[in-house]
Amino acid sequence: MTLLELEDVTASYGPVQVLDGVSLSVPENGAVGILGANGAGKTTTLRAISGTVRAGGRIVFDGKDIRGMRPDRVAGLGIAHVPEGRGTFGDLTVRENLRVGAYLRKDRKGIEEDIDYCLDLFPNLKDRIGSNGSALSGGEQQMLAVARAMMTKPRLLLLDEASLGLAPSTARNVYDAIHRLRTESGIAMLVVEQNANLAFSLVESATVLETGRNVLTGTSAELKGMDEIRRAYLGG
Ligand code: ATP
Repeated sequence: MTLLELEDVTASYGPVQVLDGVSLSVPENGAVGILGANGAGKTTTLRAISGTVRAGGRIVFDGKDIRGMRPDRVAGLGIAHVPEGRGTFGDLTVRENLRVGAYLRKDRKGIEEDIDYCLDLFPNLKDRIGSNGSALSGGEQQMLAVARAMMTKPRLLLLDEASLGLAPSTARNVYDAIHRLRTESGIAMLVVEQNANLAFSLVESATVLETGRNVLTGTSAELKGMDEIRRAYLGG
């Protein structure tokens, strides 16, 4: 079953149109990637879904038209956005950041269990549980951003460039944990990632954007086999 469907989505910043008809779908429990060069519109596509930019076209989540909904309502439906640049709270501790993620929930026991699960998933955070967000390394902040999104108990995770600025081994750790999360939770994911090797390790299919439109869509295996994808995204 399809969980999220975008059809001909458009978006502009002022007079500049940056999405010019993006279509994609994410199946229930599926993981889909968005690839593309800088400025292709990947981040804006995620923002259109989470309601943080105004969009045209159709955006349907779980059978509901969510285009034009306020970001808090979109989040309330079960879509968690981990933005580029992470957006964790620097002056709150790791534990407080995780609790903030759960602010709409009332199930105290479930919240504590989920905090334990996040700390198991990201053992680095366990060691830093009382540290302020601002004292964390880039990799730890990224882990915290994903963990905080998890605390909302989402049905769909929007993940923007989780590897950005991280050393290769740290990026690999972050993706391994996200992969495990996927396997264990079945949460659907829509993943923007410049590093196509990391993306393909997580997603089953992907779409390639160029100047705000889809130019290619296929399974990870199909895309990995294409010369143009190898040249553009896989280093040869
Ligand atoms: P990147 O990897 O560089 O983030 P992207 O594919 O995610 O690329 P977007 O961030 O969606 O691309 O940006 C698409 C276009 O919109 C770019 O040309 C960018 O310069 C422009 N843009 C992005 N944010 C804004 C903004 N707040 N105001 C004006 N233009 C913007």
